[in-house]
Amino acid sequence: MIDLVKVGAGLTLIGFFAVGSVAVVLGLASLPTTPDQATAYAARAKNGLVVQGLGWILAGVGLSMALFGSAKSDTAVDTKLEILLERVPRPSEVSEREEKFVKCPKCGRDVSKDATICPYCGRGLRRHGF
Ligand SMILES: [Zn+2]
Repeated sequence: MIDLVKVGAGLTLIGFFAVGSVAVVLGLASLPTTPDQATAYAARAKNGLVVQGLGWILAGVGLSMALFGSAKSDTAVDTKLEILLERVPRPSEVSEREEKFVKCPKCGRDVSKDATICPYCGRGLRRHGF
């Protein structure tokens, strides 16, 4: 799958670079002093405007892609987090474990709630309600 965030960020960078470089080139160009220079300057300025316009469009598209992509990748991050959290017992799982297991009064190990004798030490497990 294409990483929209990276592609979008790249497009934005290219767009801003185009806009910025045109501004620098036009800004550094000496101001026209003769009619010929004026014509050349105007032509360059016009081309510069086209490049700047394209640059802004590129930057806008890139930003949209990056935003859209990051919104999508948040889900991916959540999935990764869930996978990571699988390794750590969550509080709900801990209490669930406590519900399913009881401590053997003799050896102290976790024994299934349903067991009638401790599989570790053989002690009979009798609880209230039996
Ligand atoms: Zn036991």
